[in-house]
Amino acid sequence: METVRHSEHTLKTALISENPRLVSQYEKLDAGERRLLNEAFKPDHDLFGPITLHSQSDWIISHPEAPQDFEQFFSDPYRKAPSPDKRSIYIQCIGHILKFLKKKKPEDAFCIVGITMIDLYPRDSWNFVFGQASLTDGVGIFSFARYGSDFYSSRYEGRVSKLQKGSSSDYAVFDNYYTPQVTSVLLLRSCKTLTHEIGHIFGLRHCQWLACLMQGSNHLEEADRRPLNLCPICLRKLQCAIGFNIRERYKALVRWIEDESDSPGVSTKRGREGTVDLPKPVDAFKEWKEWIIKCLAVVQK
Ligand SMILES: [Zn+2]
Ligand SMILES: [Zn+2]
Repeated sequence: METVRHSEHTLKTALISENPRLVSQYEKLDAGERRLLNEAFKPDHDLFGPITLHSQSDWIISHPEAPQDFEQFFSDPYRKAPSPDKRSIYIQCIGHILKFLKKKKPEDAFCIVGITMIDLYPRDSWNFVFGQASLTDGVGIFSFARYGSDFYSSRYEGRVSKLQKGSSSDYAVFDNYYTPQVTSVLLLRSCKTLTHEIGHIFGLRHCQWLACLMQGSNHLEEADRRPLNLCPICLRKLQCAIGFNIRERYKALVRWIEDESDSPGVSTKRGREGTVDLPKPVDAFKEWKEWIIKCLAVVQK
């Protein structure tokens, strides 16, 4: 196993930049936030580890692309940022793709992401497996079917039993599809994919600095290895894009994990069309919760 190690100077420049305007913007962040973000380049840090390489098929080896530091992110002319009238992220659970695609994006949507437990790859002629997104239009669709532990087992019931003839716009093949059980591993993988893709919509490119949610991944094993958290460089980008207090954000994430861990499911109060009851098993998030608590200790020191 190899590790991608950057020098203290490289990481510090990637995070803070050498542009005086961005340096002074950084210095205006509160002291606790800076203490946490500075963990990116401190020689003895343990909160943010280096990127590890396990095989030639790993993303960073097979997809050479220029890394994006904070300054490049900040000055990207194509970067989209939410505005006061377009500030909501819609996550739409869908059963029937065609019906969903016909619905138009709400007025105040910054982006809308369709999620489904239906496998999106029923035929070889369909060229997407886990999902597809148009970052410029702020829409995407993702299938979590292959994230279930039973997908690759012979017992999996969601396979297409008979191939149907028809045009590629005939979505009838999805009717009456099996929906796998929502396990905590499935939920963790789905959260990783969704937050990674939404990160792209905010203009964050693949991370090549430290172990990070925004690392590219080529296969499921590599995606599992990727942490659920952002490294300090990507965290500064996201904070710049949407604006939040890191302490409040981390506290809210801990609350999200703790709040529902004892209850069997999250139910929506009003029976609005399109809302669903999904179980929220969070066992697989425990390690991540411990990590956030350590970060909170650094921010609040
Ligand atoms: Zn990506
Ligand atoms: Zn990162």
